Amino acid sequence: MGFVPTMGALHEGHLALIREARARADFVVVSVFVNPTQFGEANDLKGYPRDLSGDVDKCASVGVDVVFHPDAARLYPDAPARLTHVKAGPLGRKLEGRSRAGHFDGVVTVCTALFHITAPHFAVFGEKDFQQLVMLRRLVRDLHMPIEIVPMPVLRDADGLALSSRNARLSPRNRKRALCLFNALTATQALAEEGETRSSRLRKRAREVLAKTPEFEVDYVAVVDPNTFEPTPTLDGPGRLLIAGAIGKRPRVRLLDNGPLFVGASGPTPLF
Ligand code: AMP
Repeated sequence: MGFVPTMGALHEGHLALIREARARADFVVVSVFVNPTQFGEANDLKGYPRDLSGDVDKCASVGVDVVFHPDAARLYPDAPARLTHVKAGPLGRKLEGRSRAGHFDGVVTVCTALFHITAPHFAVFGEKDFQQLVMLRRLVRDLHMPIEIVPMPVLRDADGLALSSRNARLSPRNRKRALCLFNALTATQALAEEGETRSSRLRKRAREVLAKTPEFEVDYVAVVDPNTFEPTPTLDGPGRLLIAGAIGKRPRVRLLDNGPLFVGASGPTPLF
């Protein structure tokens, strides 16, 4: 049995995860749940795109067996007097977790509940949310959950923008500007392939490219070890470049992107 947790407004990125689950499993469950406990800003939660009937159609088109769409009151009984939460460790307070206090506590708590309800053999997560993927690997290991976490690469539009449910909230102008993340990523990857190993130089290159789009407000640009998430001053193995920020006023849309860094074109190494 395979499980693909989502927050809905499904796009091709989600469908790639579901197809992978379909190829590996006899029975596929997709959850659609906009988890309130992982949102910091109330406006982001309220404005998050929702399209349940479209999601159900898309799930049917790729052979999903069950779409699980719990309501928050049933998933979180006794809230706010709830006694038990899962708390993310130090990794949960870095980067994405630093900008969005409590975000990863919400993610690991809801995934623990969803894993217990659905009891899958494996769950598929996208590298699009790279830190989340690493956190989920840790969660199942730390709490001895017998669930394999299957990673899937970032799926992009033809021009390179990483697919995201939030892209639906971009104005046409900001949709174009949002390409700065992909441009920064590819420029930095090229610099690493030319042999640059100093993280400070790599981050500088990414920021230079991002600065050409002043409308994009950078939150962080980081080069980390993909396993430990520790910043790496120099790349002596595989590294990961992570970019986050926001664009637009009403609505303000948070955008993330990330990708591997291979020094001297050493080529892909296994992620974990
Ligand atoms: P979300 O609905 O945004 O919470 O995403 C649900 C799952 O789909 C997560 O594991 C995401 O990492 C994954 N995902 C979202 N966008 C993409 C993408 N463009 N490529 C690959 N996986 C994605």
